[in-house]
Amino acid sequence: MSLRVILSCALLLSLALPVWGAEDYAAARQRMVSEQLAARDIKDPRVLAAMGQVPRHLFVPPDLREKAYADHPLPIGQGQTISQPYIVAFMSQAVAIKPGDKVLEIGTGSGYQAAVLAAMGAEVYSVEIIPELAVQASERLKRLGYKVRVMAGDGNLGWPGEAPFAAILVTAGARKIPPKLVEQLKPGGRMILPLGPDVWSEELTLVSKDAQGGVSKRSLLAVRFVPLVDGAQPRK
Ligand code: SAH
Repeated sequence: MSLRVILSCALLLSLALPVWGAEDYAAARQRMVSEQLAARDIKDPRVLAAMGQVPRHLFVPPDLREKAYADHPLPIGQGQTISQPYIVAFMSQAVAIKPGDKVLEIGTGSGYQAAVLAAMGAEVYSVEIIPELAVQASERLKRLGYKVRVMAGDGNLGWPGEAPFAAILVTAGARKIPPKLVEQLKPGGRMILPLGPDVWSEELTLVSKDAQGGVSKRSLLAVRFVPLVDGAQPRK
């Protein structure tokens, strides 16, 4: 067989492979919103609208794009994961965000959760401990037009220069509530974080600060997250 024939066979084969177009992703996204979110307990119209808009497939590695709207988390490199869509929606709804709220996210990862918060009208600040992920997410968010400020650093310390925040979302599993984050919560503010003694027994916990600065917490849902790293310890 001549090289020409081999090349044209390869071309034909690649054309025959199913490749999703923009409308396939949009349809998968609408199905995700109705079947995985609205059909469960996600009722906040801003969360449903934001997740119906943000192109989740552009936040995952190219070979996983067609799985981006499935009902589970996906790897994003560096041993980290993008959360299942339902968990992103659940956390966004739990902190009851209003347009204009100043919101801090700990664990930027792919930038998807940050984009959803920005699409809900929040002013978003996000801290990521792995510098490569911080750079990638920051560039991706800028390219897609989301105004999110990303900082590489230890999220246990929060973002003191921008505090206080109306809401804080921690997207990595904490063993105890980081005290600096409670400090950086505005009176009347809410924080949600996966909290537990180990990865097998974490619960999404809502921490609320009342107008007088009193703090209360409530467990909402059993979950499993990648760990919140202690930036003071060397990374393994
Ligand atoms: N919210 C992300 C998913 C987060 S996965 C998304 O939408 O894609 C958890 C992320 O938390 C990982 O990227 C991990 O590197 C980061 N992380 C872990 N410990 C951290 C810490 N102490 N400070 C900031 N980020 C941390």
